[in-house]
Amino acid sequence: MQHIAIGEGLRRASGRTVATVLLALLGGLSLTAQGASYLRFQDAAGQAHFAERLADGRVQPLDAAPWLGGQARGTPLRLSEAQLLAPVTPRSVIAIGYNYPSHTADRPDPTAVGMFAKLPGSITGPGAVIPYPRRAKNLHYEGEVVIVMGAHAYQVPPEQALSKVFGYTAGNDVSERDWQAGDLQWLRAKASDGFGPVGPWIVTDLDPQDLTVKTFLNGELKQADAVRNLFFDFATIISEVTETIALAPGDVIFTGTPGTTEPMQPGDEVVVEVSGVGRLVNRVGAP
Ligand code: MG
Repeated sequence: MQHIAIGEGLRRASGRTVATVLLALLGGLSLTAQGASYLRFQDAAGQAHFAERLADGRVQPLDAAPWLGGQARGTPLRLSEAQLLAPVTPRSVIAIGYNYPSHTADRPDPTAVGMFAKLPGSITGPGAVIPYPRRAKNLHYEGEVVIVMGAHAYQVPPEQALSKVFGYTAGNDVSERDWQAGDLQWLRAKASDGFGPVGPWIVTDLDPQDLTVKTFLNGELKQADAVRNLFFDFATIISEVTETIALAPGDVIFTGTPGTTEPMQPGDEVVVEVSGVGRLVNRVGAP
């Protein structure tokens, strides 16, 4: 009966009322609707494409990044036919440290957002091999939720910060702990090539306060926590970072790792799982 009543209402309504009715309908739908999912893949010719993951599981190529208004172009393909790449090609890769109470242990609580940089060259995708550098001795995983920016952001107040977000994905802030003790700015420890797997895709329209992150090493659960437990929530992070660093659409922020971490060995499989997003699976390569 409801659709008849709505149709009757639409026939009678002014434009403004129609908009109100449609908004009410969309509001109802959003209670159960999933956010859209976006990824990047490489085709048989080696060409990279941004794409939307359709509800039926297929992958629709886009003619540009979704945060730049990319539109559908070409024929959808099966997900199994798409060789997935990192879903982002960021200009800036910011990371936050010591942001979960479960990770800071005996340290005093942070009084400011602790930020550092990873390099764009650290970013790799689902299925990519995490390099075990030949000089490395103590290579750790750090499962994290990653923010993907959707708009230019500079000096954004916290109350506007989430409106600049495109979506969220899973990430692994791979860290060489011995280097971290000696590097200036943790450069090799955090920003070496391949030390930033992200993916498998970006999901929009998630409430970040509802997200959880888990990390599995060779199938064993090693880390688990919830974004709502962060010292500094995502709005505060974005506001503090953009106070002096402008972020562009497609830039990313690793938001910190929970709990404790352990060394990974060559051949290990590490999975970072973010609720509402999916599982980022990578294997550690030989030195
Ligand atoms: Mg980290």
